[in-house]
Parts: sequence; C-alpha cells; structure tokens
Amino acid sequence: MKVFSVKELATSHLTNLKSKGFTIGFVPTMGALHEGHLSLIKDAQKDNDFVVVSIFVNPTQFNNEGDLDKYPRTLEEDLKKLKSVDCDFVFTPSADEMYNKNEKAEVFNFNGLDKEMEGKFRDNHFNGVGTIVKKFFEIIRPNNAYFGEKDFQQLQIIKKLVTITKQPVNIVGCPIDREQDGLARSSRNVRLTEEHRNSAHFIYKTICKAKEMFIDFSPNEIEKWVEKEFRNHSNLVLEYFTIAKENDLKPAKSFDNNYKYRAFIAVFADEIRLIDNVAL
Ligand code: AMP
Repeated sequence: MKVFSVKELATSHLTNLKSKGFTIGFVPTMGALHEGHLSLIKDAQKDNDFVVVSIFVNPTQFNNEGDLDKYPRTLEEDLKKLKSVDCDFVFTPSADEMYNKNEKAEVFNFNGLDKEMEGKFRDNHFNGVGTIVKKFFEIIRPNNAYFGEKDFQQLQIIKKLVTITKQPVNIVGCPIDREQDGLARSSRNVRLTEEHRNSAHFIYKTICKAKEMFIDFSPNEIEKWVEKEFRNHSNLVLEYFTIAKENDLKPAKSFDNNYKYRAFIAVFADEIRLIDNVAL
C-alpha cells in the first residue's frame, strides 16, 4: 500500500497507471474509518484495478470550529485498517497541500439541492464538500468514485458537481452499513456516551416505522408523528425529519407514483449530530 501526501506525486503515479489501461476507483473519506467506509472500498475493489482512499478532514465543509477540532483523527489505525483490506493507495494531504492561505470554498450552483435539509442547518457545507471533491478528482482522476447513501444529499450533490464541472468521473452510490442494532455507522458514534449509544437505535427504529406508514398517511402526518416520538424521548433531540423526493430533495407534500421518496433525519445526542435516511 502506497501512501501519498503530495498532490503531484499522487497524480503522476496514478495517471501513469491509467495510461497503461488500468482503472482507478476512488473513495474519499475524512478518516476515523469504520466498517461503513470499508464497505465502499470493497465495492470499489470489485469494479476497478486499483483503489485510492483519501483521508482528509476538510476544513471548508465545517461551519463550526468546535466540530472541526473534535472530529476524530486516527491516522495510524486507519492505515492499518486500509492495509488489512488490501487498499492500493492512500492520499493523506495536509490542509496546506489542499488550500492556499485564506482560500474559501468555491460557490457552486447545485440547483437548490444544497438548500434543503443539511443545507438549512449547515451553512455553506456543500460548497465546502464540492470544493474538496472537485480538487480530489483533479488530482486522482478516477474512473469511478464511491459515496455512501448514508449522506444521500451529498451523493446527489456530487452527481450534480460532475455535471457542472464536466469531470469524467462515474459516481457510484453505496448502501448504508449499519451496526447490529440498526444505528448507521459513523465516525461520530465513538464519541457517544454509553447512555446515548444505547438509545441511538431509536433513530433507525423510528424511520423504519415511518416507512411502514408510507402510502397510508400523508408526508405531513408522518412528520408530525416522528416529531411527537422524539418529543417523548428523554435524551435524543430531533433537529429535522423530512420526507423528500430523491431526485430534487424537495419536501414531499403528497405522494406521486412517478417519484421515489426518502425519509431523512438529523438528531442530536447532546452535541453529537447523527444523520440517517431510508428509502420509502
Ligand atoms: P466520511 O468519512 O464520514 O466523510 O465518509 C466518507 C464516505 O463514507 C462518504 O461517502 C459517506 O457517505 C460514506 N459512509 C460513511 N458512513 C457510512 C455508512 N455507515 N454506510 C455507507 N457509507 C458510509
């Protein structure tokens, strides 16, 4: 497994492989790797000759300095995990390698995809994500790039990004990997107290019940029911629950057979923010 931290070295090595006809799969991550990340790598390995994983905690996508500082950083353990799954290349640049001094996130027109859900609560977050992913695609030049449905809004935005930037990368969405009790795996889960970890399965349980209510109840009725469930919960605080169309992420007012819908949720366990979603 080769580890790069300098852009030019990564580009020259990988373009050399591509010029020989090999395909490159790319899995961008912020590290603190868990089984969810590894499931993306396995998907990438099935489709490509070589797989590159990036580990970079991207400052421009955090709107809260505290959240950025507290984001878990476990590079040594991450490298061990990547080696154990036969990852070929790791790209771990410093912030200075990726950004000039005082550089801000580029502003993209994501056609409103960035204004819904996460966008309402995380100002400029998706411009930060778009900025770093565009840079990574320029450096790695992958044939295929893998993103988890765990961050479904991000997945849709990256699909939009490559049409805006005309980057020749195929974007592949991968299913959500869950803990045994249903909690979506996340790097933030390790920060949960034992009490919060024990109650966090309530998030998935509730969106699964919401899924059962689909068709028989209106989106508004389901949303009201979920809000009530969380009002009655002692230590999880609902930030939002929204049923939205998969294609444009606009909140659903009623259900139309011509569209696919998803239920999206964000919940606070103290200051730790957990997100999840389920296809309806
Ligand atoms: P992150 O390191 O949190 O930025 O995540 C890197 C990639 O892994 C993103 O595409 C995420 O959507 C994906 N990912 C994170 N957790 C999971 C999970 N539990 N199941 C599937 N994909 C995930």
